[in-house]
Amino acid sequence: MKAIQLVKPGEWPELREVPIPKPEPGQILLKVTAAGLCHSDIAVMDHYASALNYPLPMTLGHECAGTVMEAGEGVSHLVTIGEDVLVYGPWGCGRCRQCAEGYENYCYNARARNITPPGLGRDGGAAEYMLVDRARYLVPIKDLDPVKAVPLTDAALTPYHALQHSRDKLDANSYAVVFGVGGLGHTAIQLIKHLTPAQVIALDVSEDHLELARKVGADYAVKSNDDAVELVRDLTHGLGAEVVFDFAGVQPSIDLGAKLTKVRGDWNIVGIGGGHATVGFGAVPYECSVFSPYWGTRGELYDVVALARRGVIDIHTEEYPIDQGVDVYKRLHDGKVIGRAVLTP
Ligand code: NAD
Ligand code: ZN
Repeated sequence: MKAIQLVKPGEWPELREVPIPKPEPGQILLKVTAAGLCHSDIAVMDHYASALNYPLPMTLGHECAGTVMEAGEGVSHLVTIGEDVLVYGPWGCGRCRQCAEGYENYCYNARARNITPPGLGRDGGAAEYMLVDRARYLVPIKDLDPVKAVPLTDAALTPYHALQHSRDKLDANSYAVVFGVGGLGHTAIQLIKHLTPAQVIALDVSEDHLELARKVGADYAVKSNDDAVELVRDLTHGLGAEVVFDFAGVQPSIDLGAKLTKVRGDWNIVGIGGGHATVGFGAVPYECSVFSPYWGTRGELYDVVALARRGVIDIHTEEYPIDQGVDVYKRLHDGKVIGRAVLTP
């Protein structure tokens, strides 16, 4: 089968021919119907694969949708052959206190026991077939188109999760600032607009991405540069935004975020663009909370699927055959993807 594999850290991945995997006891084999390409994969290529000692070659892709083809020993009664599913990505031990509360994304044991998400430490979904370790990671897709639905597993789940702890601050008089209108950011705008009465101010460095922000409902779309500080301060009556979501996570957006969060506001740094926030008295607004959320819970994935089925979230996708996977990653790296790029293996 064809797979987009990272072979050497620091280099572009390669389209390779690899064997179709066989499900071990407990595992499920999926025929991949769609695989979303996330900017985190660029960080994986650049440094995570070597920093976290990923076994290479490794098939990329942690946003996965597929059809159940085969169940390994012991799980055939838990799955339905032929069912279309999404794959919940942040796998955990299933036994610790975090997992027990549904926060498998914050599992205490995952790191120590080498339990890794597909595409982030083990073979992922940028291939014709993939293995899933537990039946509980399969979330039914129902009548959704796999291409439009696959970004729900990360591009929607991650902002939805980040929004949960900040939702109470977003009332009718409040503002949410969204940095980075890419796969995650353009979905975040839709979630905030639907789930809260707050006004959304989107910031991006690219005019094309700001255009997408307006299309999906941002109240204001502003170039992300030093001039933005005064502009956003004017829009927010000189006070800054109750909640800032940073889906770029680069140093320039983080430096702006510190200036645009309101006193007692929330600053959610979701992007992993290598930037770091300085936190301390005087460095951030009084009593501001800084969050570094990671992905989301399985329950929240069911929630975003429900929202998508009701037409509340419309993820903009660019669809490509797997053969173009490497070039599509280059487009994503260069900021040329509008919305989410999805491979259809
Ligand atoms: P993307 O490439 O689709 O979007 C990134 C956007 O940020 C682009 O529109 C780009 O123009 C914009 N941008 C770049 N520099 C900017 C700046 N200085 N100010 C404002 N905008 C700027 O990426 P994505 O797939 O949506 O991922 C977004 C970020 O979130 C990435 O860093 C990714 O690694 C990270 N991520 C984190 C989690 C998590 O769990 N914390 C999960 C998924 C993705
Ligand atoms: Zn991701």
